[in-house]
Amino acid sequence: MYLQLENVEKYYGENENRVQVLKGVNGSIERGEICVMLGPSGSGKSTLLNLIGGIEIIDYGNVIVGGIDLASLSKTKLGLYRRDTLGFVFQFYHLVPNLTVKENIETGAYLSKTPLAVETLLDKLGLKEHCNRYPNQLSGGQQQRTAIGRALAKNPKLLLCDEPTGALDYQTGKQILSILQSMSRENGTTVIIVTHNSALAPIADKVIYMRDASIERIEFNVHPKDIENLEY
Ligand code: ADP
Repeated sequence: MYLQLENVEKYYGENENRVQVLKGVNGSIERGEICVMLGPSGSGKSTLLNLIGGIEIIDYGNVIVGGIDLASLSKTKLGLYRRDTLGFVFQFYHLVPNLTVKENIETGAYLSKTPLAVETLLDKLGLKEHCNRYPNQLSGGQQQRTAIGRALAKNPKLLLCDEPTGALDYQTGKQILSILQSMSRENGTTVIIVTHNSALAPIADKVIYMRDASIERIEFNVHPKDIENLEY
């Protein structure tokens, strides 16, 4: 087991504004699995992803990744965990505005001891001809592909993706999913995809359905669909 969630609770706000956003979540993800997290808006998917990504503090319970209990780490150690273990594709890209496409992707590669080749990624992501542009000269889809390139360039053990195909047209979306699938199958990367698009469920090894701050159910696909055969 690579990732374990044990009675994870998260609250936002104080006093009378305090709301419970995760109500004791339990589950596990194996190494190299693709896990799709589905559920309506506000059900706690992004919050759970952010806890796994070490960018939100766990209030109660444990998130254990590769044997490391995140709740026990200091801020510095949590930073090292993010640097050494994770690739994170944010819903709103978070690109560095004064760096070009290529330079943004290179920031991912610099952080890694085992980076992927940036030129190959630019090619795979269809960004070669845009590689010297700045984020404000790009469409939403191009920014998203750059953000994905930056996360992949680290060749991370764990890849966390918040709505990675949200801003993409159908064909580009499929290309991205296909890259994520090959990262899991060929590099053994564990991939977690948060989405509200239930059409993505068949590509996952494991589908976690969230509702009202809890895991409603977990389903397994014994034979996840290849992206080429996916219609959505
Ligand atoms: P999802 O990703 O499923 O749409 P989120 O995890 O983003 O859900 O949000 C779960 C709940 O937590 C929502 O009700 C949202 O309004 C609330 N929430 C998320 N982030 C914060 C925050 N920083 N402060 C207060 N409430 C938040």
